[in-house]
Amino acid sequence: MSEKATVEISEIHWMMDMFQSVDVGLVVLDRDYKIQVWNGFMENHSGLLPYEVRDKVLFDAFPMLDKEWLLQKIDPVFVLKNRAFTIWEQHAHIFKFKNYRPITSVAPFMYQNATFIPLTNITGDVTHLCIIIYDVTDVAISKIELQEANNELQRLSQTDRLTNLNNRGYWEECLQKEFLRQRRNHGVSSLLIFDIDHFKKVNDAYGHAGGDEAILHLAKILKKNLRETDIGGRYGGEEYGVILTETTAKEAYIFAERLRIMVEESVVSYNEFEFQFTISLGIAEFTGELNSHQNWIEVTDSALYKAKMSGRNKVEIYTQPQLDE
Ligand code: GH3
Ligand code: MG
Ligand code: MG
Repeated sequence: MSEKATVEISEIHWMMDMFQSVDVGLVVLDRDYKIQVWNGFMENHSGLLPYEVRDKVLFDAFPMLDKEWLLQKIDPVFVLKNRAFTIWEQHAHIFKFKNYRPITSVAPFMYQNATFIPLTNITGDVTHLCIIIYDVTDVAISKIELQEANNELQRLSQTDRLTNLNNRGYWEECLQKEFLRQRRNHGVSSLLIFDIDHFKKVNDAYGHAGGDEAILHLAKILKKNLRETDIGGRYGGEEYGVILTETTAKEAYIFAERLRIMVEESVVSYNEFEFQFTISLGIAEFTGELNSHQNWIEVTDSALYKAKMSGRNKVEIYTQPQLDE
């Protein structure tokens, strides 16, 4: 054998070695989607040896593949001779391989990106196609975990620690949105604000922790009564707000009365103590006269103030002052 031929053979040998041990999956298909090449990566992760899959139609060998979606990727590569790509954000994986990486053991399956390359013969026809599979589990997991951490941070920044209700900042943002929505659409919406009566006395009698127990107790009753579209929040120390969308003042009154009675009749258990308290509530329906969401709060507060002044444990609806008043 000539020296040149020996060099060429050993080059092919190296290439085969590299091809077998490279850390990406390489699959070559012919135009009937029959598997022609299946490298070491594919063998290791699928558990199928090259001779077991060779000449088998890809979709028969792997019935779990998303055939329709994959054909949409593959067919244009054959026809247009262009490369195509898929990323894990769009499609988590092509081949559902178990994930064995210890650091990323939270992912049961390997996340994959893939490239589809047209392979041409000497006359320039695309006779085959190569799929390159990249294991991107590490990247995917970091990104997913970061996203989850961000979501959790966002949730925490919007939530009141004690009651798990929306905190004041976020609740006011929601109110502002509702205000703008109503101003645009001229719809119906009511605002409810309520406050514990003589709460200082609760604190005095049972201590701050006892007072906190009452605040929690009230938050639980409120949560039980909120509808899907209502937005409740802890507006102040022992003051709460509820945005009642698509709700007239009259309907809000029914909601408020139910809440008032439930609170009046319920009992707080705190250590060896049992005690009761009441709440006063103010309601204001949205009107075009309101010039801001703060203004909406102000008029609702004035109804609450009226409830306090007229004896507490009451619901009052805001009415616009008449011109001659
Ligand atoms: P009123 O019927 O007029 O509302 O009387 P009040 O005693 O409830 O008066 P006000 O609403 O002004 O009282 C608020 C009190 O609530 C003052 C403050 O010490 C207490 N407070 C505010 N935030 C908290 C809290 O997070 N925990 C506890 N335990 N007390 C709080
Ligand atoms: Mg108060
Ligand atoms: Mg109070």
